[in-house]
Amino acid sequence: MTVSAQNTMPAGSAADHANADAANTSEPEGSVVIEGVTKKFGGAVAVDNISLHVRPGEFLSLLGPSGCGKTTTLRMLAGFEEPTSGSIHISGQDVVGVPPHKRNVNTVFQAYALFPHMSVAENVAYGLRQKGTPKSEIRERVSESLDLVQMRSFADRKPTQLSGGQQQRIALARALINRPAVLLLDEPLGALDRQLREEMQIELKLLQSRLGITFIFVTHDQGEALSMSDRIAIMRKGRIEQLDDADSIYDSPASAYVAGFIGQQNFLPGMMTSDLNVMESPFGVLRSVIPHPELEAGVDAQAAVRPEAVTVTATAGTSAATAPTAENRIAGEVLGVSHQGETLQFLVSIGDGQTLLSRVPRPTAPRLAVGDAVVCTWDATSVHLFPSEQATQAQADIARAVSNPAPPTSSISL
Ligand code: ATP
Repeated sequence: MTVSAQNTMPAGSAADHANADAANTSEPEGSVVIEGVTKKFGGAVAVDNISLHVRPGEFLSLLGPSGCGKTTTLRMLAGFEEPTSGSIHISGQDVVGVPPHKRNVNTVFQAYALFPHMSVAENVAYGLRQKGTPKSEIRERVSESLDLVQMRSFADRKPTQLSGGQQQRIALARALINRPAVLLLDEPLGALDRQLREEMQIELKLLQSRLGITFIFVTHDQGEALSMSDRIAIMRKGRIEQLDDADSIYDSPASAYVAGFIGQQNFLPGMMTSDLNVMESPFGVLRSVIPHPELEAGVDAQAAVRPEAVTVTATAGTSAATAPTAENRIAGEVLGVSHQGETLQFLVSIGDGQTLLSRVPRPTAPRLAVGDAVVCTWDATSVHLFPSEQATQAQADIARAVSNPAPPTSSISL
């Protein structure tokens, strides 16, 4: 995609962008192009020089821990914040300096923000009424919008007579009534309980596919992002760490941070050999198939291996100490076995206080007990090697994010 030079002027005064309504037709309807955007609050950098091209009709999630800049990015797209520098184009239109109501976007927040004294239909109709749309057209479009979220039969109820999930559907219907080119969603399912959230995830994805509207979805819940998104932008400290589809993010993490933030990982320390696919650790030799561009022979590294990639086999009659070791094969002793519903999880001690986690589908899981001698094996395609410093920093950041989760409700007020 290209961004025309006339639209890359620095952010700032609305006057600079007085002609922002003039569409730049080189970008298709529903596209979002963020180029070199930074947002500072005072001296603090909330969003740090991000560039992101969202395709028309794409479901893209911004995923990251609390404070990484997701909401600020979304608010800049909505027009509630202006970038300190950089450019934003929506459907080819330079929107920096354009007020929220003049952008062809709408936003759904975690807090439904429905008017309690109005009926469902009145809530959904509110925006069109403000615009002076003829009554007959409003009636038709409200019905259409309520049909989209399967709530037409609730049109006369008040929001207090609805469940949380139903209220969120109404907030969606209200946001969709103008058929915006882009819908921005800020943790819209965050206030719902787990089961309802999972149901709504499926509904949202189906709705988005049916309408073909670009969805930009903010969440700190990786399951939510992985299950719904065409692509996910993993954010960390105001930057985008990786932008990819769910499979690539899960199987080919671009950094130790992404590797550790998405799903679980075993991290093992070691030193790179002259074969840059191979790390020697005190526990054994780990071979990967993809060399890391920053790793050289002799440098400290860490290998990441997912628990579901680790197979645990009993080494009957052989003590852990004498069990054979080879590449991607480490002997140990079972420290714990836990049932996780569909999987069994084994915690294996491999010496020096180091453990390995293995997760195996229940039907194929070995029957092992605490104290059993085992050997853990995995495939070289499951090993990712990272510079030690990067991996240590990533693990510290992830631990901080886990101990400081996102607040339960959005701080955004309408
Ligand atoms: P969460 O998941 O908790 O909502 P987030 O990833 O959406 O977090 P942001 O809300 O974008 O993060 O905040 C990014 C950083 O910018 C944080 O350090 C936050 O404290 C800061 N910040 C956000 N809004 C403001 C503001 N209006 N004034 C000052 N600092 C702000």
